[in-house]
Amino acid sequence: MSNPNQSGWRPEMTPERRSSDATFTGNRALMLEEPLIFEIGSTQTTGVEVAEPAKVASKLGNLARSAPIGLPGLSEPETVRHYTRLSRQNYAIDLGLFPLGSCTMKHNPRLNEKMARLPGFADVHPLQPTDTVQGAFEVIHQLAHWLVTLTGMHSVAMSPKAGAHGELCGILAIKAALEAKGEGHRNVILVPESAHGTNPATAAFAGYSVEDIPATTDGRVDVAALTARLGPDVAGVMITNPNTCGLFEREMRTISDAVHAVGGFVYCDGANFNAIVGRVRPGDLGIDAMHINLHKTFSTPHGGGGPGAGPVVFSEALTPFAPLPFVEKQGEHFALVEEENAGEHHAQSFGRMVAFNGQMGMFTRALTYILSHGADGLRQVAEDSVLNANYILRSLENTLDAPFAHSGPCMHEAIFSDDGLPEGFSTIDIAKGLIDEGYHPMTMYFPLVVHGAMLVEPTETESKAALDQFIGALRSVAERAKAGDESLKSAPHFAPRRRLDETLAARKPVLVWKDPEMAEAAE
Ligand SMILES: *Cc1c(COP(=O)(O)O)cnc(C)c1O
Repeated sequence: MSNPNQSGWRPEMTPERRSSDATFTGNRALMLEEPLIFEIGSTQTTGVEVAEPAKVASKLGNLARSAPIGLPGLSEPETVRHYTRLSRQNYAIDLGLFPLGSCTMKHNPRLNEKMARLPGFADVHPLQPTDTVQGAFEVIHQLAHWLVTLTGMHSVAMSPKAGAHGELCGILAIKAALEAKGEGHRNVILVPESAHGTNPATAAFAGYSVEDIPATTDGRVDVAALTARLGPDVAGVMITNPNTCGLFEREMRTISDAVHAVGGFVYCDGANFNAIVGRVRPGDLGIDAMHINLHKTFSTPHGGGGPGAGPVVFSEALTPFAPLPFVEKQGEHFALVEEENAGEHHAQSFGRMVAFNGQMGMFTRALTYILSHGADGLRQVAEDSVLNANYILRSLENTLDAPFAHSGPCMHEAIFSDDGLPEGFSTIDIAKGLIDEGYHPMTMYFPLVVHGAMLVEPTETESKAALDQFIGALRSVAERAKAGDESLKSAPHFAPRRRLDETLAARKPVLVWKDPEMAEAAE
């Protein structure tokens, strides 16, 4: 319910919300309730008065709107309050620990933000003449150098705009390489069962048929099953390392050699690079292409905080097929290699992934992060992220089932299952209970190979005190579930909204607001 001081306050709109809330306004102290803009706005209100335009003949023909658009209006202060109130209902990395496994929700250093806002980076336009943006190109080039060096690969395509986009870039390069060898008939990509959904989606999108490779009981790729499936129809494999069970694929070199031996290529999903940066070079493991999520490993903002960036590193074999454009150092000058000037040297490129060069703001942030850590600091990032995850795993393995606790230390994420919770309780109850404790839930029900999976990734940026508090909260919620505490089944109790019917919301989303009065009149 909205604040009665607002002009658009209409208490009759949401009686069910009022009856379940203890206060007149629906507000809880300074946590302000906020209805939809359609509920508080009015078509008669506006923040700006614009003079009636001169009548001109419409050229829209039958495309002209036949009825008023009906958008709600608010005054300027009402608009500011509406969006500010909504923003306070968000959870953010600047508010607390974000244990989402596989997402690497680490602190976004303010220094990165300061650098990205320098006018020479923030205000450049992609169509500026190249000799006016030499500094920006140098940033792209330096970051590319770091990524190639850290991964031990041959080249990098900077332009892909997210991990999934990078996967597509890598698979398209593999496809171009196979076609160049006259082996475009290879139509199968093998993907382990524990893979992120984007891997099979990417392979299918690029026209491949996807086949699952099973996991062993210790949570790693079943190498025997994989090698048994290899053959002349296999274009390649997509393997995540460290994998989504939080484990390092120790036999990666064996897998790569076997795939290469039958003429296929190895794509590595590098989303979990944070666990090994500075310690393992994927190039040494025989990988042909791997995306790096700058918004994970290299601390650029994530999700609602900013766009992704997914550069792809390539082996020597795939380098000729990498996308355009890219920045090349020619003497003291940085040039942009495009279709027009690619020449013989890059004639085999499969094309382009984006209109311009990628996410400049993210390149600046990632390079700032890398330079402020240095090579030794990045190595420490990997070590601390792994240490933090193992601290969580060992602190909770006696409270929650930890299916791979016997497989040795985990990498940068700890995985638990809902095994051992009483009948009727599941992972979702633990996740919703955590919301009441003030935490964003961990990744749930992924990877699919673990029943009721809870994938927790603390990252290196959390202190021991922060980890202890989180462990205490998760243990308390898990113990309530184990004791059969029924109230957990309707959690969250303290959030702005109670438990939602998530299946219904996903299957039958209500995306268009309807005026309840008009809806009633229509009945
Ligand atoms: C995050 C992630 C992706 C996809 O990356 P986006 O940047 O979200 O597109 C792919 N694979 C794994 C394992 C991931 O964690």
